[in-house]
Amino acid sequence: MRLRQRYRMRAPSTGREVIIEAEPGRVYEDRETGEELEVVGMLLPLAPTASELPWSIENLRFCNWCDELAQKDLNDCPNCGRRMDPLPD
Ligand SMILES: [Zn+2]
Repeated sequence: MRLRQRYRMRAPSTGREVIIEAEPGRVYEDRETGEELEVVGMLLPLAPTASELPWSIENLRFCNWCDELAQKDLNDCPNCGRRMDPLPD
């Protein structure tokens, strides 16, 4: 299954945004500041996923173990395989 997906990412201090074809489990850093980029959104076309939910930002959460994005309807994180905490209602 292909999980590679293009993300919009932002450097927190400068607000500079870049588009990265990100691999799950990998941390991306800003080329100038070296700080960890935060995910702003995902771009179309979407990579096929194990989930039926579309990869829009409303349908995603950050895994409490590895901090990677995962679909909200999954119980186990697709990146680290651990069971994620239940979501607050
Ligand atoms: Zn995880």
